[in-house]
Amino acid sequence: MTNSLTALFGGTFDPIHYGHLLPAIALAKEIRLSHVSLLPNHIPPHKAQPEATTNQRVEMIKLAIENDPILSIDMREITKSILDRPSYTIETLQAWRVENGASPGLAFILGQDSLLSLPTWNNWQTLLNYCHLLICRRPGYAETTNDQALKEWITQHQTKNIDDLHRHANGFIYFANTPLEDISATEIRDKISQKQSCESLLPPKVWQYIQQHHLYGA
Ligand code: ATP
Repeated sequence: MTNSLTALFGGTFDPIHYGHLLPAIALAKEIRLSHVSLLPNHIPPHKAQPEATTNQRVEMIKLAIENDPILSIDMREITKSILDRPSYTIETLQAWRVENGASPGLAFILGQDSLLSLPTWNNWQTLLNYCHLLICRRPGYAETTNDQALKEWITQHQTKNIDDLHRHANGFIYFANTPLEDISATEIRDKISQKQSCESLLPPKVWQYIQQHHLYGA
């Protein structure tokens, strides 16, 4: 079985935390990925604009992954952001296919909360034409949905067979057995603004960076 499946983990990472890192590392192990690329967006389409600058979010990701060979950073959404418009995942995936062709495997990683919000994404039902979706569990978010279209779409494309992800370039949804990490960037920003410590929620160098740059009211 190959290890050539590219996995992109998109997000705002404002800031990056163990709720991103630990599931990503566990997922890589679970489905035999040689690495996972964190894909920071410049302008998130579905949420409030980040508090840290794009450059600061990128710096924090670099600090978080510097000693982990499984993790890397993919700057494509930052680079294209000169257009100053939202980073739509579907456009990123299409651009990746133009660059790499139809044959290589591509997977996009989502937390369970993001899966549930998928019907608000641009052209969400065509995402699987370009990639697989790998879903990480997240505390507080239901495993089922009342959205009928989403529910049917998941049933139609779900696989429990890891080999499907390696044998096909795109088209499957896989629910991973990743660890539950009850951490969110919102909670971290709120705690820091109230002068509470978040040392245990993110890597030490990211915590130091936040202090040094007085981010989130530190
Ligand atoms: P915020 O609190 O600002 O909304 P966040 O903590 O949800 O941020 P994002 O950068 O928006 O982090 O998330 C990027 C991706 O990581 C999304 O797919 C999200 O579902 C996933 N994710 C974030 N935190 C967790 C977590 N604790 N467990 C599993 N997945 C997570």
